[in-house]
Amino acid sequence: MDPLDLLNQVAAEVRVCVQCQLNVSRKNAVPGEGPPNAEVLFIGEGPGFYENEQGRPFVGAAGKFLDELLQRAHLQREKVFITNVVKCRPPGNRDPLPEELEACSWFLDRQIEAINPMVIVTLGRFSMAKFMGNVRISDVHGQSRWVNGRLVVAMFHPAAALHQPSLKNAVLDDFGRLPGYLTQARTNRDKMQAVQVTSEDENLPDEDKPTQLSLF
Ligand code: SF4
Repeated sequence: MDPLDLLNQVAAEVRVCVQCQLNVSRKNAVPGEGPPNAEVLFIGEGPGFYENEQGRPFVGAAGKFLDELLQRAHLQREKVFITNVVKCRPPGNRDPLPEELEACSWFLDRQIEAINPMVIVTLGRFSMAKFMGNVRISDVHGQSRWVNGRLVVAMFHPAAALHQPSLKNAVLDDFGRLPGYLTQARTNRDKMQAVQVTSEDENLPDEDKPTQLSLF
């Protein structure tokens, strides 16, 4: 399916989803937003008060701070995709429950499949756990690891830095590393494409193989 069609289909399903109890208290589900060809996907935890009101991700105070952080990373908001591990607001901004994370993961998995991002930035421990398992965010924030051919970077949630000012410098530093990670991911993609082209050439009949021109 075309990536945009798949994203639109996921968003339509999310808006009417009743797969977990969070559907009862939501005002608006928040599927996420961004272009289908985004190189970077940001995954937060769940919608907060303002996101629930507007049906859009990261529009409250944490969203404003995320905008600043994106600028620091030389990224434009309209060129990245932003979503959450659960698409409906947990009441009182409580942590999402395991069964809610499980019920909602199908939507996030299809968004990743549609966007096929080179870099995934996890914002907070719930999205981090999806890719990195049982690690402590205080140990791995700002670090990256390859997961299924994508560079996954763990970050604190911007709201955490607003609640704990002592984290702010760490968040700023971590976002400052993003341009380097993006360069690393692009280089890896180019290498993979070159390997793919070479192996495709090897399967060509001799007369169709690219010719190395001799200068002498
Ligand atoms: S949080 Fe996810 S699984 Fe639960 S009702 Fe909302 S869209 Fe459905």
